[in-house]
Amino acid sequence: MRDTAKHQGLRNQLVSLLQQKGIQDINVLKAMQLIPRHFFLESGFEDFAYQDKAFPIGAGQTISQPYTVAFQSQLLEVKTDDKILEIGTGSGYQTAVLCKMGAKVFTIERQIDLYKKTSKLLPKLGFKPKVISFGDGYKGLVTDAPFDGIIVTAGAPYIPQPLMAQLKIGGRLVIPVGEDKQIMTLLIRKTETHFEQHEFGDFRFVPMLEDKNR
Ligand code: SAH
Repeated sequence: MRDTAKHQGLRNQLVSLLQQKGIQDINVLKAMQLIPRHFFLESGFEDFAYQDKAFPIGAGQTISQPYTVAFQSQLLEVKTDDKILEIGTGSGYQTAVLCKMGAKVFTIERQIDLYKKTSKLLPKLGFKPKVISFGDGYKGLVTDAPFDGIIVTAGAPYIPQPLMAQLKIGGRLVIPVGEDKQIMTLLIRKTETHFEQHEFGDFRFVPMLEDKNR
């Protein structure tokens, strides 16, 4: 696949739209302006890559809507070299955005086919997450904890306790919580035991499922 001037033009338009919708974090906007989102869709679906829509990526999953990626990335307040854990690698697009923002990214996927495909694709495109793991995001990644930020990209019925435990003091957990629709939720760990909670309205995600799937 190629990245052409036409793709770059469509990306510029998408980034303007995200700004109109309220995204202000310049690092998020820059990353999304640079990353060819069409590389993360099956070939033949390029035309859909720069619409502000979710899209199927196989295994019953979707690549998140660009606005959702931007909104969650902005809530994380990523700084260079931050350790960020992502639950739900999926297509790898959100992973790539976090890498481009200068984070050290650790990502977990429970669907074996997506895991295999995306763990090959990301390095091929020049994105080098620290860890791409096949596993269950409900457990987090104990061996690499604690994290500056954790981002969950599937709809969680509740906030998994291990994810809270794997956050640094001052760290941020961005997680859509709910069954049919989800409330975007931000937890900030203020002390060992105290978490501040903020809510940001409704989103729709595929469900966060228990256990991994071979
Ligand atoms: N960040 C992805 C979004 C993919 S959709 C992207 O940008 O494309 C959500 C992903 O979460 C799916 O791939 C799904 O298989 C995965 N998922 C769901 N429950 C999970 C769990 N418990 N652990 C890890 N991944 C999970």
